Amino acid sequence: MESNNRNYAKELERLIAEPDAGQGACRSVLLHSCCAPCSSYVMEYLREYFDLTVFYYNPNITEDAEYRKRVEEQKRLIGEYNRQVEMHCLEGMHSTAAARRIQVIEGEYEPACFFAAVKGLEDCPEGGERCFACYRLRLEKTAQLAAQGGYGFFTTTLTISPLKNARKLNEIGEELAGKYGVAFLPSDFKKKDGYKRSVELSGQFGLYRQDYCGCVYSRVSAAARLAERTELA
Ligand code: SF4
Repeated sequence: MESNNRNYAKELERLIAEPDAGQGACRSVLLHSCCAPCSSYVMEYLREYFDLTVFYYNPNITEDAEYRKRVEEQKRLIGEYNRQVEMHCLEGMHSTAAARRIQVIEGEYEPACFFAAVKGLEDCPEGGERCFACYRLRLEKTAQLAAQGGYGFFTTTLTISPLKNARKLNEIGEELAGKYGVAFLPSDFKKKDGYKRSVELSGQFGLYRQDYCGCVYSRVSAAARLAERTELA
């Protein structure tokens, strides 16, 4: 059983500091992203060290309109980051971050896969078994694509959220790394003020920040919490 004492943020720092970490093709990361706000800090951090491809795969988002809103915001943010790269090139700056454009791949929008994955777990509270199945669905698709595409690593933005279980995400990632033969980048992106920085970047770029996680169950829970607060006020 996984120790709860692992510091995944430090493990990532150590991996980055290895002299030959991620050379050549291994320098590439397929980064699963749940949304633009969560990816803002993660992209800012990782692009210093890796060639990034963002994989937007989120069949957990129940409503089509919400899905479209989030994916368009994701693409807009990547466009903004890539414009920074172009500006730096024009200004003759060649720092590592300034040199790298971020690629994006939009996965299939297949909510039926989400409902199949969480069948029987619908009533689990947020943060429990239903969410673990949801993490696995999204990470497994990312691991498959990373293996097919010859990426050096795969990982996810999900560990930036204080509401997500970073230990579980890392455990699932490591298990899938073994299954698909592609390395998993350990992370706990909320650490080192990562979450705080994501809030700042969201303000800076005027990003849409949704008030629920994505599935219909989380939307119902968020609405209930809001109603409770309104009643108490
Ligand atoms: S609350 Fe979020 S992580 Fe949990 S099942 Fe719903 S969409 Fe997935």
